[in-house]
Amino acid sequence: MIERTLSIIKPDGVKKSIIGEIISRFEKNGLRISAMKKIWLTKEEAKGFYIVHKERPFYDSLTDFMSEGPIVVMVLEGEQAISKNREIMGATNPANASPGTIRKDFAENVERNIVHGSDSPETAQFEIAYFFSALEIF
Ligand code: UDP
Ligand code: MG
Repeated sequence: MIERTLSIIKPDGVKKSIIGEIISRFEKNGLRISAMKKIWLTKEEAKGFYIVHKERPFYDSLTDFMSEGPIVVMVLEGEQAISKNREIMGATNPANASPGTIRKDFAENVERNIVHGSDSPETAQFEIAYFFSALEIF
């Protein structure tokens, strides 16, 4: 089934100048970029995006990190886009990520892990709408 999912290149990925490398991995794996922009989240905007994690001990630190510099937000589209993107990303903690995944290759630790990807159709819908209007997705 063709799906859409939200991808973010987090501030650490932007700082490392690997935007092109990451997008290339998506395209080589059959995911199309249906929408894309570079933005800088405020702390409040980062908190809104990660609202599902508001009770977690890492929420404050995570939202500081996500608002420390610009990010690239994208809508990826393709067959099984949600699970395919999660495979390309690798496990949340790079120590547990498989070889050849983005997080294994580039992430410093469980927080600064380079990329975000929606984890279900419901979260994809919420997360895409958080950043993009229907008129911005092709
Ligand atoms: N995170 C963290 N510490 C943890 C777990 C997660 O700092 O113990 C951060 C990390 O940046 C992660 C984000 O919070 O990507 C969201 O966590 P989630 O469990 O949803 O992981 P993901 O879906 O990004 O793999
Ligand atoms: Mg998640």
